[in-house]
Amino acid sequence: MVWFLPRLLAVVLVLALGVGLGHLAGAALGLPGVGTVTGAAIAVALAVLVDLLRAMRLMTWLRGDLARAAPRDAGFWGEVGYRVERALRLREQATAAEAKRLEEFLSAIEASPNGVLLLDDKDQIVWSSAVAADHLGLDARRDMRQPITNLVRTPAFVAYLQDGDSRESVSFAAPGGQGNLQVVVRAYGDRQKLVISQDVTERTRADAMRRDFVANVSHEIRTPLTVLAGFVETMASLPLTEAERARVLKLMAQQTDRMQVLVSDLLTLAQLEGSPRPPADRWVAMAPLLRRVLADAQNLSAGRHPFDAVDLPEVEVAGLEPELLSALANLVNNAVRYTPAGGRIAVAWHARADGSAEIEVRDSGIGIAREHLPRLTERFYRVDGSRSRDTGGTGLGLSIVKHVIQRHGGALEIDSELGQGSRFRLLLPASRVRARVGAGVPAGA
Ligand code: ADP
Repeated sequence: MVWFLPRLLAVVLVLALGVGLGHLAGAALGLPGVGTVTGAAIAVALAVLVDLLRAMRLMTWLRGDLARAAPRDAGFWGEVGYRVERALRLREQATAAEAKRLEEFLSAIEASPNGVLLLDDKDQIVWSSAVAADHLGLDARRDMRQPITNLVRTPAFVAYLQDGDSRESVSFAAPGGQGNLQVVVRAYGDRQKLVISQDVTERTRADAMRRDFVANVSHEIRTPLTVLAGFVETMASLPLTEAERARVLKLMAQQTDRMQVLVSDLLTLAQLEGSPRPPADRWVAMAPLLRRVLADAQNLSAGRHPFDAVDLPEVEVAGLEPELLSALANLVNNAVRYTPAGGRIAVAWHARADGSAEIEVRDSGIGIAREHLPRLTERFYRVDGSRSRDTGGTGLGLSIVKHVIQRHGGALEIDSELGQGSRFRLLLPASRVRARVGAGVPAGA
């Protein structure tokens, strides 16, 4: 009511002025009564006119750009303008704060690795996070208000969505054709739905790998077991001569050896996967290690292959000796097993200028066709299954080698050509290679 008294005072003042001046003018003309009334009327008309002008100005502002300030008039209309503008600004601030909160909320949802999609009661898209749009192959803007089942037609998803609020989730191939999705739908509000999608490609792949692995292990163990069972039955049911008995027992021993090697390789792999990285400060001298590996390989070769002389390096590698030994032994033994008699085998150490090094195992054996190279280090992958088994292979050797070298911060590189021999290289990072303590410069440098 702060505007009321001044306004009343102003009206009274204008009226008094009009009456006073009208009375004076009327008296001069000998008509004081008429003068008083006319003065009062003019005063009232003037006051109304000023009021009207202010009201019109306020109305023009209200109809126009409300972002501009309200007319700064005094009195009643000024007060109305001021109050309207203040209410407007407060509302704007509240809306901006609300919008900021919503934006923060949505960016939190966008930051989630899971996709979020909101559907109305007719399953039309109300809002979609970028991840959900990517998962389901949607265009977040173009597909707004479209029924989701028109856009994602995968039968498993459509059936699941129409089932209502299910506690279970559904998995299906991503509509874009890349990977697998797991989707959960929850009802909320007034028959609206919240769809949460998750990329489970990696998990699906890991599950498939685990299943394959178990199937492969079972198969690998079942074969020698079947053979053994056959021999046991033969021995139990048939009268055998001493020579036959000896032969059967030898074959049985071969099968048990095969299972032992398989179990030992499986344990090695499990250990490699479950143990921490090899220490970077335990140094293993390479020369004695290579000497052992070569002696074993020459035993295996039984003089069938000439080995190129090795310049034994005066170096040490940081890591675990049993692992390094196993990796090298696998490579050199493969060279022997896949190289026909008379073929050459060479093992060499190469130091590089940047301090890193590589151990090279080369043979002039049967070689490997290009298409097999990317898969060689997969567990149980064999180019020629019978040759591998006949020579005591488990199909796990190169996968052990790859694991070992990767755990030592290095890499395994394979070059080979069918019929031309193969070259396997273990690359070791500079941080894990040093000259043997007490030696001069690293051999081969
Ligand atoms: P395996 O026990 O069968 O030898 P590996 O994992 O050691 O298993 O090797 C996988 C496959 O790679 C082998 O089955 C073989 O076909 C091929 N391979 C490995 N080393 C050589 C080599 N030096 N020359 C030719 N083929 C090789």
